[in-house]
Amino acid sequence: MARKLRVWVDQQLCVGNAMCEAIASHTFRLNEKRQSEAVDPEGDIEENILEAAENCPVSAIFVEDAETGERLFP
Ligand code: SF4
Repeated sequence: MARKLRVWVDQQLCVGNAMCEAIASHTFRLNEKRQSEAVDPEGDIEENILEAAENCPVSAIFVEDAETGERLFP
């Protein structure tokens, strides 16, 4: 079974280029201010969520193991 993740976006950093939404479209959604929100940490497989985080140009995406608190990205 997949581990549970905690996923969040630092909106002070997000520049709204929608890269995360393109890679993990069920997890990230741009709001009306064109800022990404992590709407569902279980929306996509972990690999895609981490890929989205790695591809954010301003490193605004943070990912942790929800149970252990282990930081998975960055
Ligand atoms: S990839 Fe990063 S900068 Fe682009 S919308 Fe997502 S969180 Fe914001």
